[in-house]
Amino acid sequence: GSEMSIRDRACVIAQFTGVRSPNRVCETTELEPEVPSSVFYRMPRQRYPRAVSASGMYLQDSDGRRYLDMSGGAAVSCLGHSHPDVVAALQQQIQTLAFAHTAFFTNEPQERLAAHLVRHFGDDAAKVYFLSGGSEANETALKLAWQYWVARGRPEKKIIVSREHSYHGNTLGALSASGNPGRRRVSAAPLLEWPRIEPCYAYREQRDEESIDDYAARAANALQTAIDAHGSDKIAAFIAEPVVGSSLGVVPAVPGYFECIREICTANDILLIADEIMCGSGRTGEFFAHRHFNVIPDLVTLAKGIGGGYQPLAAVVLSGAVARELERAGFAHGHTYVGHAAACSAGAAVLDVLERDNLLAHARKLGRVLDSSLQERFKSHKLVGDIRCVGMFAAVELVSDRVSKAGFADRPGLAEELRQAAMDEGLVCYPGSAVFDGKTVPHVMFAPPLISQQRDIEEGISRLSKAIERVLEGGSVR
Ligand code: PLP
Repeated sequence: GSEMSIRDRACVIAQFTGVRSPNRVCETTELEPEVPSSVFYRMPRQRYPRAVSASGMYLQDSDGRRYLDMSGGAAVSCLGHSHPDVVAALQQQIQTLAFAHTAFFTNEPQERLAAHLVRHFGDDAAKVYFLSGGSEANETALKLAWQYWVARGRPEKKIIVSREHSYHGNTLGALSASGNPGRRRVSAAPLLEWPRIEPCYAYREQRDEESIDDYAARAANALQTAIDAHGSDKIAAFIAEPVVGSSLGVVPAVPGYFECIREICTANDILLIADEIMCGSGRTGEFFAHRHFNVIPDLVTLAKGIGGGYQPLAAVVLSGAVARELERAGFAHGHTYVGHAAACSAGAAVLDVLERDNLLAHARKLGRVLDSSLQERFKSHKLVGDIRCVGMFAAVELVSDRVSKAGFADRPGLAEELRQAAMDEGLVCYPGSAVFDGKTVPHVMFAPPLISQQRDIEEGISRLSKAIERVLEGGSVR
């Protein structure tokens, strides 16, 4: 339908051609590159400022411009940039042992990091498998789920159920499980078509007359309906983000939802995979985001914040029950960089700093400041439909009309326009968009480093509000 084609256009415009806009970063997309480059860029026709250094909350480019990093890129830099303790740990590790293939050896950093993660997870029998990125972690979680059911004598359990408006990664399995029609289609990949249910998204889905409890039950029951349609004997796992990240902009499930989901998974012999690649690692003020919901998933995937950007690092946490089964039966999988010593040493250092400096408590406390500052600035803004904040993870959702919650017609590139306008204001934030009723609904996420202070939050919000004004209120940038 039209919803699909507009969303596709948004992605095509943003990813393959760049968008027209009078601001500095965009303009260069229309020009011949000033400096020839052999890099095939993410958006091949886009030209990017060159990052040359970074420290704390700020990144600096080769023109000397400074950018306040309020999103850690994509919720990555949880300790900000150039954190001296992580840098020192990493230097030390690289000098001692950068890499020893884990088919031959284990190493101290992965042992230490695994033990630390298991402590946070709270199940002594849990185990951790280390990878290099979020997509790899989710691919691995799927392999774990499939092989777990083979080990249990149920090899026919293969289907992965997921949710609409979700993103689990760009590799084939992870993208197959992602409910993001734009990214699916523009990838041109032959993806598996697995069932997807609606997300738990109270702002748009909860009915006026419906209580939170009733909405939680209704949203979770969509999983039971999908199971009834496809057969629990065919379904291996359900994967969901406890707090939806880039597809909707910081959407936590309502209380009761994940408890219901957990019950349905258990009753139907379906593994529950929590994708905490964006929302985990302390981002929400709890180390594991599922902690907000009183459930224990069977598998949890982590990336981004776990390595804090100091190294490419990701992990899958296996509950004790799943680990035991696969330790008995074996697990066939692996990549060259599984359990990479230097990457794990960065992760171990990041977790040490989080603990030593009490940054989860800081995230909870400053998260309240982030929330109230966003409310103060945007609560009565005519284009802000919803403001959501969980710890140091926040988003504003923009609408053209607050009553109807309608998005913007014929503005498929809005997220990209907002990103570039923010950069022109010296701000790194993380906009994204969804399409509802054929109209683009952009959101802007903040995932500030957990070392942020109140003045950073205030500065970030002030720059964001200028960027929103520039794109949506003042001079039109279409
Ligand atoms: N899952 C979620 C929730 C994500 O936000 C992302 C990345 O944005 C991924 C998976 C994929 O991770 P990566 O880009 O490291 O492969």
